[in-house]
Amino acid sequence: MARYTGPVCKLCRREGEKLFLKGERCFTPKCAIERRAYPPGEHGRFSGRPSRQSDYSRQLRAKQKGKRIYGVLERQFRRYFRDARRIPGLTGLNLLQILESRLDNVVYRMGFADSRNQARQLVNHGHFRVNDRRNDIASTIIKPGDKIAVREKSKNNEYFKTLRQAEDTRTPPAWVESDLNNLSGRVIRLPERAEVDGNLNEQLIVEYYSR
Ligand code: SF4
Repeated sequence: MARYTGPVCKLCRREGEKLFLKGERCFTPKCAIERRAYPPGEHGRFSGRPSRQSDYSRQLRAKQKGKRIYGVLERQFRRYFRDARRIPGLTGLNLLQILESRLDNVVYRMGFADSRNQARQLVNHGHFRVNDRRNDIASTIIKPGDKIAVREKSKNNEYFKTLRQAEDTRTPPAWVESDLNNLSGRVIRLPERAEVDGNLNEQLIVEYYSR
């Protein structure tokens, strides 16, 4: 599956807020938002008075932010929206639940990676099993009850050895359970709205695609 390969911090600067795409670095003074809190590009810094945002512009920014947070490109994001619309209930919440159920996001939520980008790379490299079967497709939608585990072979990998030995200070959200010592976890249920962090306005995304 295609993915964005350009400069990551630029995406945060464009949205004017931290999207936490780089793990540890996002919490240090090296974060680009801390150093250059203005949009990227020639007119970013000296663009004069901020212009009033139109409805369309707000919808577009909300949609772009969603794509960037979850590392999904336009075609896939639009497909998720169509799927969300088919499911009974609130389309915006359905969309967030689909995004949260991606394998790379679940691996990130379980604490096996510092960022979704890193989780995606670990998945792509074939380090995980889903319900005892090897799975290297980051976009796989994980369902409640599914079990995720690091493959036996990968447990000797330096990264996972360090992860097992590190003090477990992470608190996974209530909709997943994870055991960093055994490098395994399970999805208990779909997340509720309050459990999806990120300053995302899903209603604006729905409005964008419903135009
Ligand atoms: Fe965004 Fe993290 Fe880069 Fe800061 S360090 S700009 S939060 S990706």
